[in-house]
Amino acid sequence: MPIKANDPNRKSWIPVPENSDFPIQNIPFGVFLTRDDVITIGTRIGDHAIDLGSLHQLGYFKDIPLTDDIFLQDTLNDFISDGKKTWRLVRNRIAELFDVRNEELQHKDDHKQIVLFTMDEIEMQLPVQIGDYTDFYSSKEHATNIGKMFRDPDNALLPNWLHIPVGYHGRSSTIVPSGTPIRRPYGQTIPKGEDQPVFGPSKLVDFELEMAFITTDANALGEPIDVTEAEDYIFGLVLFNDWSARDIQKWEYVPLGPFLGKNFASSISPWIVTLDALEPFRVQSPKQEPQPLPYLRHKGNNSFDIHLEVDVTPEDGQSTTVCKSNFKYMYWSMAQQLAHHTVNGCKVNSGDMMGSGTISGTTPDSFGSMLELAWQGTKPVTLNGGEERKSVADNDTITMRGYCHKNGLRIGFGEVASKLLPALDLKAPKKNK
Ligand code: CA
Repeated sequence: MPIKANDPNRKSWIPVPENSDFPIQNIPFGVFLTRDDVITIGTRIGDHAIDLGSLHQLGYFKDIPLTDDIFLQDTLNDFISDGKKTWRLVRNRIAELFDVRNEELQHKDDHKQIVLFTMDEIEMQLPVQIGDYTDFYSSKEHATNIGKMFRDPDNALLPNWLHIPVGYHGRSSTIVPSGTPIRRPYGQTIPKGEDQPVFGPSKLVDFELEMAFITTDANALGEPIDVTEAEDYIFGLVLFNDWSARDIQKWEYVPLGPFLGKNFASSISPWIVTLDALEPFRVQSPKQEPQPLPYLRHKGNNSFDIHLEVDVTPEDGQSTTVCKSNFKYMYWSMAQQLAHHTVNGCKVNSGDMMGSGTISGTTPDSFGSMLELAWQGTKPVTLNGGEERKSVADNDTITMRGYCHKNGLRIGFGEVASKLLPALDLKAPKKNK
């Protein structure tokens, strides 16, 4: 079925500001709370959110086989379960309805009053109930940087890295939408040169610049997904800040991997940009040498050219862009990640989230974490206001943005912005006691 929604010449009757991430060719999906305190599934064009629940009730999707309450839910999981054919029909229909040449809704003020909201009238929620969250480690540059710092500069990549999309199972309960403040976590760390651990607030909180993809129900237990079909089960992507406490991580990660240094928070951008909307921005993946095993081989352009950047903004200070990277630097594609994840028969469900791993490029200004940017504290990053950073400071806001741009068409993700609050005062009396 053609993706008519991607027609680059289409214009909307909803105004779209210049350089908006959300032209009519984007049509992302999200969940929001309206001014009437109703939770609904919606999309966005320019600076307007569109209530798909109301649109459906008013009959605008009558030619698409959808259950009556598919958009009247507080998560997208059921809609995602309907599968790729339905996602396409719905995106195509939205594009048609909001096309400047279409009169069906454009002049019906009573209907527009019900379905259209300005962004300041709504509050974005988590778009899916995330059953399982897996985090990969798929940027060769990031894995090499970490290997150089923590192990052996001459053998930075471990022997399995070029054969396996390395990953671990994370925790979904602490994934939060953009805008939710994060607390500096407590934990065990080992001071430099000491042999006994101490307990206290982490001194090395970091961001990780990642993207995450969201799946549909992909397979039955015991059945792998073929790498050449894996993309059919990917609904879309979000920006993903995988907050990390490096000092806690360093002490705890041997032998079973990341735990409390990683599971205190991960922040996502609230609009899921569909894989369909990203079609025009496909590019070749980095060459894989040695050739992966047959179950990981695929042809064609399996990467996406998505510009990424990270800003650090101190409280009452100016913003500094500390990193510019690109999703296309990923060594392992999303299709390879999903094929590998299921090759043992592991079942993947609707709403599962798969993090890419920190996305670093080859140059020092493209490194996707403060750990790498400040090279383990040896090269502090100077912000525009003159302050230095080796890690994220209390009350800093970390903002990540992502967008694709080609032939005058820009499709973006908006942003994920979250503030790091100081650690709780554990000795302070608890409220309500
Ligand atoms: Ca991560």
